[in-house]
Parts: sequence; structure tokens; C-alpha cells
Amino acid sequence: MPISKLLIANRGEIALRIHRACHEMGIKTVAVHSTADTDAMHVRLADEAVCIGPPSAKDSYLNIANIISAAEITHADAVHPGYGFLSENAQFAEIVESHNLIWVGPKPEHIRIMGDKVEAKRTAARLGLPLVPGSPGPIANFAEAKAVADEIGYPVLIKAVSGGGGRGMKVVESEDLLESLMQQASSEANAAFGDPTVYMEKYLGDPRHIEFQVFGDGEGQAIHLGERDCSIQRRHQKVIEEAPSPVISVEQRAHMGGVVAKAMADMGYRGAGTIEFLYEDGEFYFIEMNTRLQVEHPVTEMISGIDLVREQIRIAQGDGLSCTQDQIVLHGHAIECRINAEDPRTFAPSPGLVKNYVAPGGMHVRVDSGLYAGYRVPPYYDSMIGKLIVYGSTRERCIMRLKRALEEFVVEGMKTTIPLHREIIRDEAFLSGDYTIKWLERWLDENPA
Ligand code: ADP
Repeated sequence: MPISKLLIANRGEIALRIHRACHEMGIKTVAVHSTADTDAMHVRLADEAVCIGPPSAKDSYLNIANIISAAEITHADAVHPGYGFLSENAQFAEIVESHNLIWVGPKPEHIRIMGDKVEAKRTAARLGLPLVPGSPGPIANFAEAKAVADEIGYPVLIKAVSGGGGRGMKVVESEDLLESLMQQASSEANAAFGDPTVYMEKYLGDPRHIEFQVFGDGEGQAIHLGERDCSIQRRHQKVIEEAPSPVISVEQRAHMGGVVAKAMADMGYRGAGTIEFLYEDGEFYFIEMNTRLQVEHPVTEMISGIDLVREQIRIAQGDGLSCTQDQIVLHGHAIECRINAEDPRTFAPSPGLVKNYVAPGGMHVRVDSGLYAGYRVPPYYDSMIGKLIVYGSTRERCIMRLKRALEEFVVEGMKTTIPLHREIIRDEAFLSGDYTIKWLERWLDENPA
């Protein structure tokens, strides 16, 4: 059924991104917003806007009853959750569908499976994806932990079954530390996620983070759009992403892409998804699947020419995939810098009034941001205020253009991570593409402000 009015259950740059795709498809939009976001760009641009609560996310952007009411009073016929907030909440997806609204996302049962880390690994194994060696399920006691660690070898990583955002993980270097660290991990997981259950994985010393973008039609057809390299991280948070990965060959891409697309086809997966791997010594190790659009999706759009939000909407309204695997041609190189309202060295949040704003432009330069001069960045949410995405026919040209675009970028009134990006992309390791998930933290230690 064609969607005619879509409610965007999110805020910030991604809400604007979804609004843009909708208007390009002739779909009307409904913005929902907290009282802190009345002046947000996407609220101004949407066809209708409904205030759904006070600033605190739990009372507004996570307030399911108010979001559903907003959809009902505006007669919206679909809901797009963006990323974060309710995007991977299977219950929300079910509630949306039970109100006869189209859910622009995967089947709720797939959200649920992939949201449970142990169940996700079991499913991935069954679908033929390569796993990090580890415990087959949750670890019940020390004896079991010891047996698994002896088998896979130290160092091992204890992870929370309900963990997220890189939190709830403990590296164990040797057996004498296993019992105490396992207890710590478990009680921290209980405090943070309300679930003390933990599992164990082999700790990979210095891998890269490489993820594949997939789409399924929900009826057994699936495609992949290649990989993104998200190894430039701080505290397990991505800072710069690029596509393609500088270390993956055409053959590896075709092979792993084929493996993940087949897995999604066999699963009957619907909509957009990302299969995340760690990559070390030429091997891929599945860590998790995200059943939603990712922050870094524009780098894939740049090299594939496919609008990922449009593709999500097409699938949700029953139009199926817009192309077959052999029609997809990836060309050139794209890099994304996440711009945060933070001190570029201490990373202390720095929200406030935007006194001046000049976004870079020119050929192959894209800025996804809701910022404008006079806008006040509220202190209540994630500190990401925008993304700069640049394309070039080669990685080298892309970096030259990114350097030029970062020189032009002006945000006055608050500290931002723009100066950090200017420095990182000049570094020899970044230029050569020879970096891993630990590189940025080491670089920050070696390059104090
Ligand atoms: P979360 O859901 O909390 O983000 P993930 O399983 O996706 O957890 O892992 C987040 C990050 O933690 C990865 O990008 C990587 O940097 C690191 N990590 C996860 N598993 C391992 C592992 N087995 N060995 C080394 N690092 C890991």
C-alpha cells in the first residue's frame, strides 16, 4: 500500500534526512518533537508537527503512547524510527503494526532476535556467518567460564547479553583474573541494563570494524551494498567511516557480500540492516547485526548511488527491492566525519547557541545537519550535530576534498570536533589506510592538544 503521510519518530539530522527522502517521493511528513526541539529544522520543514512531551527522551522520543496518538490525530499511515530511540524496539514495531500503521523497518521478530546478543550469534551461526570463537550461550558459573576460556585461549572478553553502545565489556588477560572480572562484569551489567547475564568471546587484539549493508524484501530476496570501514573509534564510538574499506579486495567484498546477502535471504529479512564484523588477519568475525538505518549510511549512498531511506520506504510499502545484485555498481570512495558539539580533546559536551554557521559545499560534498545560525543546540540529547560526507573518484581525491571541505566548515558559538577531524585526516596512518579500532585512542594519547 503506498504511503501518503509518514510520521518521523526521531529528531536531529536523521529526522531531516527522512523528511527529505519523503518529500522527494511525494510523501507528506509529520514531525514529533519534545518541548526542547520546537525550533529544530525538521520540525519547521515537516508538513505537520506534534509536541509529544518534555525534553527528557523517556517522556518524549521514547513515549510510545504519545507517538501513536500523534500518528492517529494526524492520520499518518507509516512510522519511520530513524536510528537510536525506538528503532530497535520490537515491541514498538508491533504496536505500530497493530495500529494499522506501516512500520518502516524489519519484522518485529527479527528485531527481537538480533537485539539479544546470544540469540543473534546463534542465528548468525545457523545462517553460515563466521563468528568470534566463544561461549555457545550465556555463561552460568566460573567453572563454565574457565572451561570456555581454556578452550579459546586468553585474552577473553566478557560481554553483557543485554549490553549496548560498547558498554558492559571486560577484557580478561589471564585465568587468575577471570572469576573477579566475571563477577564485576555481571554486577555492572545488572546495574546498567537490568540483566546480569554475560557471555564470553575471544578478545581480538587489534582488529578493524567492517560492516556490510544489506536489504531484504521480506520474501526471500536480499542484496548487499558492500562494506563500510568504521575502525576510527573512540570508546567504541565511531568517529570517521569510509566506504569501501581500504583493506578489502574486490574478491573479498563479493565473497562476504554474497554470504551476508544469502543469510538475509534465507532469514526472510525485510528492510535495511547492517551486519557488523571484526576483521583481523584476513578473517571476518560476526559481532552483531543492527536492524535499522545506521548513522554512517550516507557513505554507502555516495558509492552506490542508491538512496537508502527511499529503498526502506519502497520495501515497507510493498514495492520490493529497486534493483538486483548484478545491477549494483560501487564506484569511487566516500568518507564521513561525525561532527559533535564537544571539546575536540576532552570530548566534554558543548551545547549552546549557534552564532555563525557556514557549511561547506561544492562538488560531491554533502552535509547532513539540522544546524542554522541562531539555533540553540539543546543539552538533553546525543552531541552529534551533523555529518560531513565527501565523495571522490579515488580515496586520495576523497581525502583532498574532505580536507578542503573541513577548512570551509564554520560553526561558531560552541566547541566542535571539526578541528579534530582536520588533524586526523592529515595523519600518515589515516592517509595510508593502515589503522585499527585501537588506533584513534593511541593517537589521542600521543597527540595531546
Ligand atoms: P555494542 O552492542 O555494545 O556496541 P559490540 O558487540 O557491537 O557491542 O562491540 C562494540 C565494539 O567493541 C566493537 O566495535 C569493537 O570495537 C569492540 N569489540 C567487540 N567484541 C570484541 C572482541 N571479541 N574483541 C575485541 N574487540 C571487541
